[in-house]
Amino acid sequence: MPRELPKAYDPTRIEDDWAEYWLREKLFDTHSASDEAQRGAFTMLLPPPNVTGRLHMGHMLNQTEMDILTRWHRMSGQLALWVPGTDHAGIATQMMVERQLVSEGTSRQELGREKFIERVWEWKQQYGDAILNQMKRLGVSVDWSREYFTMDEGLSCAVREAFVRLHEQGLIYRGAYIVNWCPRCQTAISDLEVVHEEHAGKLFEIRYPVVGAEGEFVTIATTRPETMLGDVAVAVNPNDLRYKSLHGKRLRLPLVGREIPIVLDDYANPEFGTGAVKVTPAHDPNDFAIGQRHNLPQISVMDDTARITGTGTEYDGLDRYEARTKILSALEAQGLLVAVKDHSYAVGLCDRCKTIVEPRLSLQWFVKIAPLAEKAIAAVEEGHIRFSPPQYAKTYFEWMRNIHDWCISRQLWWGHRIPAWHCSGCGEITVARETPEKCAHCGSVEIAQEKDVLDTWFSSGLLPMSVFGWPEQTPDLSAFYPTSLLVTGFDILFFWVARMIMLGTHFMFDVSMPDGSARTLKDAVPFREVYIHALVRDADRQKMSKTKGNVIDPIDIIGRFGTDAVRFTLAAMASPGTDIAFSEQRTEGYRAFANKIWNAARFLFLQIENAKAAGIATHTIDLAALTDAPIEARWIVSRLHHTATDLNTALSEYRFHEAANLVYQFFWGEFCDWYLESVKLRLRFDDGQSSSVSLDILVGVFEGALRLLSPFMPFITEELWHALYDGGPPAKSIALTRFPQGADYARDDAAERGFVLLQDLIGAVRELRKQAAVPEKEALPIFIHSESPETLSTVTANQDLLAKLARVAEVRVENAPLRGAHIRNLPAIDVSIEYERKIDFALERERLSKELERLTKEWDNSQRQLQNESFLAKAPAKVVEGLKTRAAELPGLLEKTQSALSAVEDR
Ligand SMILES: [Zn+2]
Ligand SMILES: [Zn+2]
Repeated sequence: MPRELPKAYDPTRIEDDWAEYWLREKLFDTHSASDEAQRGAFTMLLPPPNVTGRLHMGHMLNQTEMDILTRWHRMSGQLALWVPGTDHAGIATQMMVERQLVSEGTSRQELGREKFIERVWEWKQQYGDAILNQMKRLGVSVDWSREYFTMDEGLSCAVREAFVRLHEQGLIYRGAYIVNWCPRCQTAISDLEVVHEEHAGKLFEIRYPVVGAEGEFVTIATTRPETMLGDVAVAVNPNDLRYKSLHGKRLRLPLVGREIPIVLDDYANPEFGTGAVKVTPAHDPNDFAIGQRHNLPQISVMDDTARITGTGTEYDGLDRYEARTKILSALEAQGLLVAVKDHSYAVGLCDRCKTIVEPRLSLQWFVKIAPLAEKAIAAVEEGHIRFSPPQYAKTYFEWMRNIHDWCISRQLWWGHRIPAWHCSGCGEITVARETPEKCAHCGSVEIAQEKDVLDTWFSSGLLPMSVFGWPEQTPDLSAFYPTSLLVTGFDILFFWVARMIMLGTHFMFDVSMPDGSARTLKDAVPFREVYIHALVRDADRQKMSKTKGNVIDPIDIIGRFGTDAVRFTLAAMASPGTDIAFSEQRTEGYRAFANKIWNAARFLFLQIENAKAAGIATHTIDLAALTDAPIEARWIVSRLHHTATDLNTALSEYRFHEAANLVYQFFWGEFCDWYLESVKLRLRFDDGQSSSVSLDILVGVFEGALRLLSPFMPFITEELWHALYDGGPPAKSIALTRFPQGADYARDDAAERGFVLLQDLIGAVRELRKQAAVPEKEALPIFIHSESPETLSTVTANQDLLAKLARVAEVRVENAPLRGAHIRNLPAIDVSIEYERKIDFALERERLSKELERLTKEWDNSQRQLQNESFLAKAPAKVVEGLKTRAAELPGLLEKTQSALSAVEDR
């Protein structure tokens, strides 16, 4: 006996309760020792959101897709494990807490490293779970017992192990290199963390006097004149004839006074500028390379905050841009500033704080990447990892084949501190898993740990192993590695995806397979497939951004439409490789869909009540072997067969939009619009057996549809499923039942053909009635003609359906082709009605005149707008397009209305 449902569907009333129930019952927890796990599991890692994060639409899409897949695999009989967690997000979190300190009138430096880290942990305890709590509210079916944080003890231990092993293998080194330096964050940042922006700057041309040749100069051009304080040479191309006479000469560096050589280097391009290039190895990557080739010194002229330092000039202590202004006016005063030209070029900004990055020489830790990249390329080339959409494999290869050594050190305090200790006695470095007591080289106890921490991606790159206990060889690691799938955005393809592949294929060879055999590349990969999802844009396809003010907050939109409707919107719009233009109207539409499901359940439950009152109980019926049922029942079961088959295929290929549209079309277009309307005929419960079978089929189909819908709309389906089984559901949750398969439902081609014929016929009769303006309630006979006996018998056998759905009073079969005014020709059958319209001509004239007037006005308006240049320039493209389409329709409508009016004019 179903539980009575409230009249109105109210997502807020049901969603919180079910989300809490799933958590409380630990429904989605998994165990590696279970039989299911042994049979092969479906496993995924959640791309860990930053601990500073709040849920945005990108997460919402990512999590909707992952949850649909996890629920689908789980319902398909596999153990489905989705591991949640958060990333400590070095720079982002440190910035957040630093800002907090500033507002309290203190600073990180004032607090000191230890106290500061305590503060970050406090911050993490207090605010760090915000995004996970939002996920819990969304009811995502992750295994919360496995929730991790990248700074947890176990995961930190994996980070240390990975660093030490790479060091032992000679794959980690320390060296002075040019890095991207953020003077605000005061740390090195990776190439990927630098955003480039076109900048309208200046190109300054400066003269450097030739030593020993009064009045002779070499002119160089630069966009960063302050770096000249660190110049150690000027390079010219050996083939540049203009400078032949200067080979071997020296120049005097203005303002500093240092003598610097002219060096010959192919890097200097005779075609560009003056062909002479100043060389500042400590502040430019190309100059660094020239410096190496010519054995030049490296003179750093800026400190961590990009203030000039150590030059012995009056500019020491000035910020880089103050120094620039002063240096330029000094050069000008000495007549050495030849020209200032407008020059637009790309500047690099720190992705976090948008400060202009300063290329700068500094001592960093690096991973020698080539040996790792080689295996990571092979893993994809040999098909052990598949990208979807496949074009991302190409992007991956391009990047991996041009990869540079990975700078893994960051000058931050928040993060995994590098396990290396510097000895003040001998100057050597001791790298160790456990904190050493003395220097491994000279035995001195005067050792101090490296101040730098590791790049955040170093720890997240290890996650597919470390969340399962690596470096220990745990049962979890045996059961769940490699994971099945990674669902992620394009933006972290290199940051994260590539690094997981490199680190996984490097380290997992050492872990033998569950049966003790050696692991090969195929099983060393961190995941078998990568699905790259789209971006969520606003309804006008604009990228969401705070500055544009078009950011949609998923929590807000969920509050208005319910989680199920938002999930369904994202799924229905997620076609592979296409960005989603998220629209509230669509969400409103899917909220109406949920409402439709709710009302269908209410209708169904009412029928069960009525049956019970008539002494008829409902039974479970085998829909896989259905014979001898009314045509609409055999048709809907056959449709369910196809829907289930196609839906399983669509989900196995990540075609979420197709899957969502299939189930939507089935439920609304077929189940509600046709089947429910037809089945009403049968549910009279006064004739015993036949009503009972129809009801059993109805319940069976509805229950199957709920299970089909469940991965997309977990809340409403859980609510209705429990209501249907009130008091005794066959499982704790619909999420733990079986996902419908095609074979569960009898396919019946004849019933499908027959029902489609009836649908077409009903459609045609409805149109004819409308055209002839037959009053709604008046039943009419229809005349049919067909050459096919099967067609005729289908129609005559289902007169009750025609009567119910098209007010057909009687079906008259004509042997001769039909004649008369109201005929429709369908492929297999012709149909007509006879109806003499009784028209009030005066009224009709008035109606048509008004219509003509309205259309004429609309035509004039549209013409005015389409000829207005400034309107066309300003109006959104959508509006203009709509206007043009309508303008094209109007002449036809005008003509039809005019001739209709002429026809009644004289009557
Ligand atoms: Zn920064
Ligand atoms: Zn030592």
